[in-house]
Amino acid sequence: MDDFRTAGRAAVDLLADYLDGLGDRPVWQPMDPAARERLLALPLPGAGRGLAELVADMGADVLPHPMGNGHPRFFGWVNAAPAPAGVLGALAAAAMNPSSAGGDHADVHLERTVVRWIAELAGFPHPPGAGLLTSGASMATIVALGAARHRAALRLGVDVREEGLSALPPLVGYAGAESHSCVRKAAELLGLGSRRLRTVPSDPAGHLDPAALREMIAADRAAGLVPFLVVASAGTVNTGAVDDLDAVADVCAEEQLWLHIDGAYGAFGVLDPVAAPRYAGLDRADSLALDPHKWLGVPVDCGCVLVRDPDGLRAAFSLVPSYLRDENAGGLGWFSEYGIEQTRPFRSLKVWATIAASGREGIARDVAHCTAMARRLGELVDAEPDLELLAPVETSIAAFRYAPAGAPAELLDRVNQGLPVAVQERGRTFVTGTVLAGGREAVRACLINPAVTEPDLRVLVAEVRAAGAELLAALGG
Ligand SMILES: *Cc1c(COP(=O)(O)O)cnc(C)c1O
Repeated sequence: MDDFRTAGRAAVDLLADYLDGLGDRPVWQPMDPAARERLLALPLPGAGRGLAELVADMGADVLPHPMGNGHPRFFGWVNAAPAPAGVLGALAAAAMNPSSAGGDHADVHLERTVVRWIAELAGFPHPPGAGLLTSGASMATIVALGAARHRAALRLGVDVREEGLSALPPLVGYAGAESHSCVRKAAELLGLGSRRLRTVPSDPAGHLDPAALREMIAADRAAGLVPFLVVASAGTVNTGAVDDLDAVADVCAEEQLWLHIDGAYGAFGVLDPVAAPRYAGLDRADSLALDPHKWLGVPVDCGCVLVRDPDGLRAAFSLVPSYLRDENAGGLGWFSEYGIEQTRPFRSLKVWATIAASGREGIARDVAHCTAMARRLGELVDAEPDLELLAPVETSIAAFRYAPAGAPAELLDRVNQGLPVAVQERGRTFVTGTVLAGGREAVRACLINPAVTEPDLRVLVAEVRAAGAELLAALGG
């Protein structure tokens, strides 16, 4: 193992230099074609090579070309800077390399604990067994909607696992207009059909309209369909809007529907005392999807699904006959009985390390810093006459556009469509774009890196204005 020890030390030095140096480099740069080609055309090696050489190759060919997340001025999509503690956790987890499907080893018990910690951070009830780590929120959503489908079918006297959907009257679900594409993907995959996942209209700030939801449910019932599910957002990906969760939970309680909340990006926003009141009702959901690999900075991949009823989740996925169940872990059985994956990676160690390194207080401080910086960004945008804030900043996302007075609307849409890439290529900051309700092209900045400072925000504003002016001129405005 001397090879591993020596190369491992070199690797840690390399990574420490990489992480230290991120802030001094361009946030992102298009890859140099030769460097790209070198990676694409790598021949399958005939003979093996030493660990030291491999570490050197990583330093030469891989680390110089990052995605950009990690830099304090990366505001794109919802991609986090990795927490250093989480990086070490990932390394140690790889060295142990268990399958966290189940059994009696440290990783399995640690996963029980970190899932409980995540529930405690988010303020969600947590009976033992009521959740598991997943590859991300997309997988968490599939698991949650699978459990919802199973419960709905049982209420109709059908075991959907045996009989399939054809044994059921048509089930209908509802999701807000701003819901993430993973919800539709899960509905498609589970055979529910995306046409039977109704789109509930949103108010101008992007919140699902509970009154419209009620009307849609009544119309579907009158037509002989079977409503079973509502998906609400605790932080939409476009503007960070948090739905009126209490009002949606009231509808679900009256109508006996499964309430799933997508908190992939935003659930941990509840730790900010300013934003916390918006999350009232979060604890009333039947299931909650979260992404520790977003706001917590746990290295990818790590999502989490929490459910109210662990037995229902197990009933939806377990393929172990009850007489063979391993009741070791307090009768909870194996994680693989609660979801889709069989061999499961040791995700919990990087979660444990990330949360333990900051503690609840440190995490809450970081979250509150991000939301405060996002509100500050909203003010900076408001203060520029050629920028327009497109939605209130509720959590840590600001959506805005470049809109100097007098420029024709059609031209401005083209400018704003091209803006994110123009800003990215300048290398000083990184934002992405989106299209908001009504077809408005927007630039969207997501703040989940606690290292962000006000000067970083000023760079972002200046870069968007400069790139916007250049694009407008180039397009003849
Ligand atoms: C990121 C995200 C998802 C999807 O999660 P993955 O971890 O990418 O699978 C779902 N919903 C929201 C709101 C998100 O931000």
